[in-house]
Amino acid sequence: MESAINDRFMNPNVPDEIAGSIRPKTLSDFIGHESLKQNLSVFISGARARGEPMDHVLLYGPPGLGKTTLAHIVANELGANFRATSAPMLTKQGDLAAILTALEPMDVLFIDEIHRLPTAIEEVLYSAMEDFKLDIMLGEGPSAKSVRIDLPPFTLVGATTRTGLLSNPLRDRFGIDLRLSFYSPADLAKIIRRSAGILGTEIDEGGALLLAKSSRGTPRIANRLLKRARDFAAATGNRVITESVVRTTLEQLHIDSDGLDQVDREYISAIIMHYAGGPVGIDNLAAALSEPADTIEDVIEPYLMQLGLIQRTPRGRIVTDAGYKHMGLEK
Ligand code: ADP
Repeated sequence: MESAINDRFMNPNVPDEIAGSIRPKTLSDFIGHESLKQNLSVFISGARARGEPMDHVLLYGPPGLGKTTLAHIVANELGANFRATSAPMLTKQGDLAAILTALEPMDVLFIDEIHRLPTAIEEVLYSAMEDFKLDIMLGEGPSAKSVRIDLPPFTLVGATTRTGLLSNPLRDRFGIDLRLSFYSPADLAKIIRRSAGILGTEIDEGGALLLAKSSRGTPRIANRLLKRARDFAAATGNRVITESVVRTTLEQLHIDSDGLDQVDREYISAIIMHYAGGPVGIDNLAAALSEPADTIEDVIEPYLMQLGLIQRTPRGRIVTDAGYKHMGLEK
């Protein structure tokens, strides 16, 4: 819903494409997660001082918390090239081999959704990560032979939404393990003010804080809501995104006071209405909601658990007292 009317109120010299530059490029621009940043900065300086590639890094956390951003930052701060791929794009060993053999010394290779790598491809990574060697089979059947190719030293940055899905041999090959958790409203408000500055739009304190509280602890959602609030500000003739503009935005997008949207509320009400509050297994719930089970597990549930509205138990998902209360119901 980006409309031309925006530009009358926003800085016309800052087109929307500039949104790409919202992504922080250095560790000091990356807001929040202070101790993670401090550690990372030590590892980066150490690798730079030794002139060696940095140890492989595993980034773990729900979508939108900054894993891709951090991978870019690592490359940037190491002064290295950034190469990126995503596990679902790698369907055969040759796909990964082609990427690895094209690397230059010290490159940072980012593999998103690394838990989705098929085992046969994952096995290629073991020697690549450990010894910078590529072991591949050439040909098929009795004439097939194994060849070993030297790779340039590189740093692998893997991102995953759930470490539990990673095989042990793969996990063990990462020297650095970084976990991103949901952001506090104060950190999200900082992110929102920074993004607003880059977008050339003004937001007041109350507006930034309310947006922050409604962003499910997630920078990507905060930035998205900021852009929608910018639209509503423009549509209502406001030059500044005020708390009241944010309130209107949230109402129009059906986002409630805890930042839950319609999908979240449908999830909770499905458990209450169809399964008497649970416990219910993830597959039944996926069928009831017509959503893939892994989307539910990665995108919907982590924040609802963080708020204490649901629980994952060995017997299935249950809605807590707080979950009922949130829906205006008694248990
Ligand atoms: P992920 O890879 O974990 O899904 P991204 O790295 O793509 O998440 O982050 C989503 C967006 O949120 C980015 O475009 C970036 O603008 C913003 N973002 C994430 N983390 C931060 C942060 N710590 N500070 C500022 N902006 C952030």
